[in-house]
Amino acid sequence: MPRILPRGEIENLDHTRIPRLRIPERAGVFSDRAARLRSLADASTIEGYLRLMARLAEAQQRALKSFEAPAIDDDVLAQARRHEMPPLPATGLARDPAWRALLARLLDEVAGDAGTPAQAVAACNALAHTLDTAPERVEQMADALLAGRVEGADVAPAPFVMAALQVYWTAMASGLRESQLPVGAFGLCPTCGTPPVASVVRIGGAHDGYRYLCCPLCSCEWHLERVKCSHCATTKGIAYHYIEGGRDGVKAEACDGCRSYRKIFYQDKDPFMEPVADDLGSLALDMLMGEEGYARRSGSPLLWQDTGD
Ligand SMILES: [Zn+2]
Ligand SMILES: [Zn+2]
Repeated sequence: MPRILPRGEIENLDHTRIPRLRIPERAGVFSDRAARLRSLADASTIEGYLRLMARLAEAQQRALKSFEAPAIDDDVLAQARRHEMPPLPATGLARDPAWRALLARLLDEVAGDAGTPAQAVAACNALAHTLDTAPERVEQMADALLAGRVEGADVAPAPFVMAALQVYWTAMASGLRESQLPVGAFGLCPTCGTPPVASVVRIGGAHDGYRYLCCPLCSCEWHLERVKCSHCATTKGIAYHYIEGGRDGVKAEACDGCRSYRKIFYQDKDPFMEPVADDLGSLALDMLMGEEGYARRSGSPLLWQDTGD
């Protein structure tokens, strides 16, 4: 009888294999983002907002450090692999109420930071009050955000609610291995099923030179060949747009087939590129792409626009 190797071991035998996934590292996911947001703030027209989001990301890192993620059942993982479905679906997963304690903590820390502007303190306090008095309202907001929707008065508190959900999902995802996860549907995170915020061409280690799409919720990244539309998968009619005289290594990968774009960041131009931070720090590129008639297919977890009518 030939010995049959389980999937993970077969993959490990092939050293030329492109790593399919990049699982988030608990130690630095949010602190790297915070540092990047701060460094981008100086030259930004939205300096104050980037600094506020940096404070939020620092609070996220502290919260992640002490948060014990809910255990993920082996059967759930096996089922997900069998059916090519995300094991921790953004929509449909029963959330442990512990995520609301994470939110309370984030709000408390950001509001208590001496550098937080008064308006943001008031917004944090208002959301903390809702969390105390009407947690079901906050659960509804979370459901909408996880489905990519937000309306009216929920736009301002959305980044904070999303931040708590990010800590919750990232804590779970960081404990997984590539071999436990399915390939999943094209253009969606294999771990949680969320569309990517942007992509990054990584440097260093096994991921060197490969392009990864980045999940704005669970912080997993998954490989996609270069020069391919992350929305419709075509390899034809792809072009790269950038701001003349703008930062090196920040481009929009645009598809003439589906008329959409996502940003792509090149770490060989700047090793500190961080997809969520750099996306927020390059809003001028979004404006350019809008003027040129391309649609952005999925938004930033840190900046929401009303999706209502
Ligand atoms: Zn994900
Ligand atoms: Zn396309």
